[in-house]
Amino acid sequence: MKCVVCEQWSFLIICKNCQETLLKPSFYKRELKKDFFNYSFYTFLELENLLLSKYYFYGDRVLNILAKLSFKKFAQNFNFDDNILSIPIDDHTRHNFSHTAILARQLSSKNITVKYNVLKARNIIKYAGHDLNYRKQNKRNFKVKKIHNKSIILVDDLITTGTTILEAKKVLENDNNKVLFSLTLADAKIY
Ligand SMILES: [Zn+2]
Repeated sequence: MKCVVCEQWSFLIICKNCQETLLKPSFYKRELKKDFFNYSFYTFLELENLLLSKYYFYGDRVLNILAKLSFKKFAQNFNFDDNILSIPIDDHTRHNFSHTAILARQLSSKNITVKYNVLKARNIIKYAGHDLNYRKQNKRNFKVKKIHNKSIILVDDLITTGTTILEAKKVLENDNNKVLFSLTLADAKIY
């Protein structure tokens, strides 16, 4: 097959060379609220072609590779005294797999347990192309599986305004959980 990034012949859908060079993750920090941060591994521009490709929408291989390069490495280097839950935001499936569940799964490690199906959006309206005001007026209205007194890392694939993440943080904190930070694959606002 051909590598979907460089189009050279490769045994992998993304060749080793592209994984080690073009897709080497960075660490972008954005403050969403006082003392609450989101961290992203890529800018949206870096991944734009991949995220818009059929490989992203119709298969999980591209996303699995990206998740291993970024989320898995993060978990391997992350130390924390307490046990933490990794919770994907709105991990219902589209095209038979859930983007956020694939990312959250790679955080699984000594201190981090992945918890699926906690946050389900009742409102699955598309935010793309809408401004912050529209997003605020059309909340995700998450249905939350009850968990209490946990330390949590929220996981999403893309952050734009941060509205969804802040909404998820709020509903979890209503049940006495502590959301430490959020992790996203890509940030649409950092260039
Ligand atoms: Zn390549």
